[in-house]
Amino acid sequence: MPEGSRNRGGQAFTYDGRSERDGRAGSHPGTAGRIAAVGGASYIFAMSDTSDTGKPGKVVKDDGDWRSQLSDLQYHVTREHGTERAFTGEYWDSKTPGTYHCVCCGQALFESDTKYDSGTGWPSFWQPVEDGAVEVREDRSLGMARTEVLCSKCDAHLGHVFPDGPAPTGQRFCMNSAALKLDPKDE
Ligand SMILES: [Zn+2]
Repeated sequence: MPEGSRNRGGQAFTYDGRSERDGRAGSHPGTAGRIAAVGGASYIFAMSDTSDTGKPGKVVKDDGDWRSQLSDLQYHVTREHGTERAFTGEYWDSKTPGTYHCVCCGQALFESDTKYDSGTGWPSFWQPVEDGAVEVREDRSLGMARTEVLCSKCDAHLGHVFPDGPAPTGQRFCMNSAALKLDPKDE
């Protein structure tokens, strides 16, 4: 088990999204439930799909490997659930066409044509490249109820998703530039 990447935040979330939700059923709908209602996107339910069998080809590395592969900021954001300062990242203002990949494992996450200017200072998208590209889970750190977004292949923390995005999904995937690597489209 990749304990090294989990113990810092003191959170013991599992990927068993079903039991997580069942534990709160009735009393609190949870942010993910609200987002599912707004966007109707099926990736919300990837939490329970992947929890039973585990995702084939999941990338698991120990802490030292991630540290040597990533810059300090990339490591802090993706493996320690950090957040880069707004308006400082490489991609918040980028309009370059291409595909944004996970900086840790290379999985394709977002397309530039779903990127929009959210005014937040972080690269923002209204949907992932495909339903299974990201996973979400409840994040109650910092006294807030948010929905964390992670790479489905390597569990890298990417950012959070909020239900105040533009049409057609109404979702705002608020990402960290440090978690992404843009592969520009060949013109
Ligand atoms: Zn990844």
